[in-house]
Amino acid sequence: MDSKHYDIVIIGSGPIGLACGIEAKKKGLSSIILEKGVLLDAVYRFPTNCIFFSTPELVEIGEIPFLTNGPKPTRTELLRYYTKVAEFYDLNFRLRQNVVAVDKTANEFQVQTESGEKYAAKAVVLAIGFFDYPNMLDVPGENLDKVTHFYTESHPYYRTKVAVIGGQNSAVESALKLYRSGADVTLIHRHDTVGRSVKYWIKPDIENRIKEGSIKAYFNTVVKEIHEDKIILQTENEQPFELENDFVLAMTGYHPDFGLLRRAGVEINEDGYIPVYNPETMETNVPGLYLAGVVAGGIRDANRIFIENGRVHAKYVLGDFVAKNM
Ligand code: NAP
Repeated sequence: MDSKHYDIVIIGSGPIGLACGIEAKKKGLSSIILEKGVLLDAVYRFPTNCIFFSTPELVEIGEIPFLTNGPKPTRTELLRYYTKVAEFYDLNFRLRQNVVAVDKTANEFQVQTESGEKYAAKAVVLAIGFFDYPNMLDVPGENLDKVTHFYTESHPYYRTKVAVIGGQNSAVESALKLYRSGADVTLIHRHDTVGRSVKYWIKPDIENRIKEGSIKAYFNTVVKEIHEDKIILQTENEQPFELENDFVLAMTGYHPDFGLLRRAGVEINEDGYIPVYNPETMETNVPGLYLAGVVAGGIRDANRIFIENGRVHAKYVLGDFVAKNM
């Protein structure tokens, strides 16, 4: 199959991928956005009733105002807003095309999808987010059907025993929602208290539910094994113990697709956690290959970049591309 030629191929149709498409359009460049799932795939797969932490003006792209019903956008409002913005700018997409290779030849990049489609470009932007790669517990039983790293709705867990693993925002928010939907919730966290980044308006709720015993919590505790009807836990300096259990919600965070980054030639820094790039241009060690959005945080800084402070990457990337190519 012949390659289609573009100035820029953008991989990922999240808010930052769309922002890159908009900047390319504004600069009169030809571009295509390749997305392995549906438009805005990661936002789509967020918890169904999620209310985002950012206020709407901080997640706007393309200078299009975003008005929401309440003070913070819901997942549905975000999906509708970004879809409308993408339509307004008439962005060029291919959805359900999983990119498996980004190869640099002498003059251009060749991008190949799983289905065999090929795209040639002067530059490639990896705006691939991190939501497909959960941080694994790496314990026996993690592959059982009762274990998930993706929380969507609390209702199905009514009158079940749910262990929520982790101590940051996803763990705390889902533990509270599960409790309010009638689940028997136990929070299990490997540190001595809920995480420092838990939002200030959520923290008292979880602390008070734990204090009053509505939600049980084991701190300084890790999961050792997962079985169909129980989990084995171990608290620091103590003997392992069993807990009856129906479901495990491992809210242990996410990390970018390091396999794709490495195959594309992106160096990962010496401690193996952050891709190498110039923060002023977002260009990686591979000339013409850029990062945009949360992917740039790697594993160690996975939560340092989000929509609010990642959307500016589109301007850095396209500004650098124009400076070098036009
Ligand atoms: P996170 O902040 O990365 O927290 C993951 C938690 O899991 C940490 O407490 C971590 O412990 C623990 N953990 C990681 N690997 C583990 C393992 N192998 N065993 C046991 N514990 C492990 O992830 P998150 O809470 O999913 O948040 C991800 C991003 O989404 C953040 O940017 C957050 O702000 C955002 N978020 C937004 C909303 C919203 O807008 N409504 C809601 C939730 C989350 P350590 O601290 O030791 O690493």
